[in-house]
Amino acid sequence: MAKETFTFQAEVSKLLDIVAHSLYSHKEIFLRELISNASDACDRLRYLSLTEPELIKSDPGFRITITADAKARTITVSDNGIGMGRDELTETLGTIARSGTQAFVEQTSQAKAKVKGKGENEAIDLIGQFGVGFYSSFMVADRVEVVTRRAGEEQAWLWTSDGRGEFTIEELTRPGRGTDVTLHLLKDEKEFVEPTRITNIVKTYSDHISIPIALTGKGDGEEKTLNTASALWTRDKKDISDDQYREFYHHVAHAFDDPWMRLHNRVEGVLAYTNLLFIPSTRPFDLFHPDRKTQVKLYVKRVFITDNCEELLPSYFRFMRGVVDSEDLPLNISREMFQHNPALAKIKKALTKRLIGELKKSAEKKPDDYAVFWGNFGAVLKEGLYEDVDNRDKLLEITRFKSTGSDGLTSLEEYANRMKPVQEAIYYITGEDAETLVGSPQLEGFKAKDVEVLLLTDPVDEFWVPSVGDYREKPLKSATRGDVDLSKIKGGKAKKKGGNDKDKKKDHKADNAIDPLIAAFKVALGTRVKDVRASKRLTDSPVCLIADEGDMDIHLERMLKQHKQLQEGDMTPRVLEINPDHALIKGLTRTLSKSDGIDATVEDAAFLLLDQAHIVEGESVSDPAAFSRRMSTLMEAGLRGRA
Ligand code: ADP
Ligand code: MG
Repeated sequence: MAKETFTFQAEVSKLLDIVAHSLYSHKEIFLRELISNASDACDRLRYLSLTEPELIKSDPGFRITITADAKARTITVSDNGIGMGRDELTETLGTIARSGTQAFVEQTSQAKAKVKGKGENEAIDLIGQFGVGFYSSFMVADRVEVVTRRAGEEQAWLWTSDGRGEFTIEELTRPGRGTDVTLHLLKDEKEFVEPTRITNIVKTYSDHISIPIALTGKGDGEEKTLNTASALWTRDKKDISDDQYREFYHHVAHAFDDPWMRLHNRVEGVLAYTNLLFIPSTRPFDLFHPDRKTQVKLYVKRVFITDNCEELLPSYFRFMRGVVDSEDLPLNISREMFQHNPALAKIKKALTKRLIGELKKSAEKKPDDYAVFWGNFGAVLKEGLYEDVDNRDKLLEITRFKSTGSDGLTSLEEYANRMKPVQEAIYYITGEDAETLVGSPQLEGFKAKDVEVLLLTDPVDEFWVPSVGDYREKPLKSATRGDVDLSKIKGGKAKKKGGNDKDKKKDHKADNAIDPLIAAFKVALGTRVKDVRASKRLTDSPVCLIADEGDMDIHLERMLKQHKQLQEGDMTPRVLEINPDHALIKGLTRTLSKSDGIDATVEDAAFLLLDQAHIVEGESVSDPAAFSRRMSTLMEAGLRGRA
């Protein structure tokens, strides 16, 4: 077969362009990336050989070899791992497979668009943060050759590219399975052929790799193993430095931040396993991907089995990275056998318990630090509140909230301790962001009586709150619902305007006084509202919308509509609450009492106030033309009144 030429996927070209022009100061990371790929390739073949032992029979020992040639100015990373077939080669080294790399390209294009000329520098910083895998070779090389032969196949292939839009593939021979990646180094990068430099890079970034990494000079035949070459998690904690842990995390997680927490334990006894787990300090890109896959790697007796074993950790821990190495599972366990494996189920249970325990410790001892974690992963963890009934109470203990009663985050326990003696419920309000929620008219009465309200801003809140239901026998109640009654609570810092608890009689009188207005509003608005009621929760605003008891919460309904789960016609009409003490409402009552029957001003006001209540909710008005007409009429009348 003749040499064939291919063009890179557009994103790869973009990426290569950034990489080739980067002035990133840690160019040596290309070696870490190549070694990481070589090690993955060995892991994958080792797993395959469990069921197809003939694949490695002729060459059972896995190894990675680095060859440097000063004269030719080349460095080659070789492995005897799984290798690549022809189609695999075009697919993996011509496109971007990893979502992280994809995100890198998107972010750098955005950065470029935003600050012209400055984008390049930002891109360079991002290389460090993301790592760009195989393509990082082009930071130091102007030509890269990959010779590869898939285990079990006879044919080998040569992939080559100068990183400028195209690559070629042609047939070749290679004595055995595996891959050699050869970099033709740029003139300025000849330091990467020096043995001491290479040795240092490997020790810094790749010491944790469990496969031996040897260095040979071209021709001199002498080989020297550079790394410790034992799986990091099997070593004694005291022999592992923070830097080694961090580099291992970068390798297993394909991440480049510092881990927020690490958990390294060896469990012995009835069940024997080792876990080396990390919580990232930044959000991975696929955190809210619908398949919610767990990404911790499962090893059995040091042999890599899989990196998507769903039975290893609950999916609300899918932000965890790292490895679990079991002594009890059979080596030949197939992916189908995970589901009903009792040992795996026990590991999952034990790990879940340990993780929640560690998070609890952190939440109590270092709340500020925990707030960072919570900001990243709280929304994911809350999925456990309705999915994992066994651990619900423990998860509730480590759940944190924004609240009107505290500046930072608060726990339910702290909320409960601050509750008013006669307070019957734990109040919350749901919405998109805390700042807007604080200003909600529905919270005015709560503010006036100094009753704390939790501000829930994650979509998942709509699901766990109803399934949890209560805490310490106090129901969780939405502040935007019909049956909220604060009348038993004596006012904290009640304002003059509110004053609804000061004089109950006066309260009733006011209620009765607005009955005709309520009736007129009902007639005017018809089916646009479910009901019109005098409000006990408003102090400053004239109106607000609430969900009737038993109806769907306002925010949930809006969310479902946004996700096209609800049609416009399915939306439940809301209850319009009006504030009897508000000057505008009082004025309308007077206007109504002076006219007989339907008053046009009152009718317009009913529509405008309903529209206004929708706007405050962040919704649009149902009939913008009618809204503008009424608004203009009203303003004209106002001006006439002044003239
Ligand atoms: P990642 O390692 O995150 O998948 P890379 O850009 O580093 O991304 O590598 C892309 C892909 O190329 C790998 O997923 C793998 O399929 C393939 N690959 C790279 N190097 C090797 C190798 N030495 N042996 C086998 N496959 C490799
Ligand atoms: Mg890689």
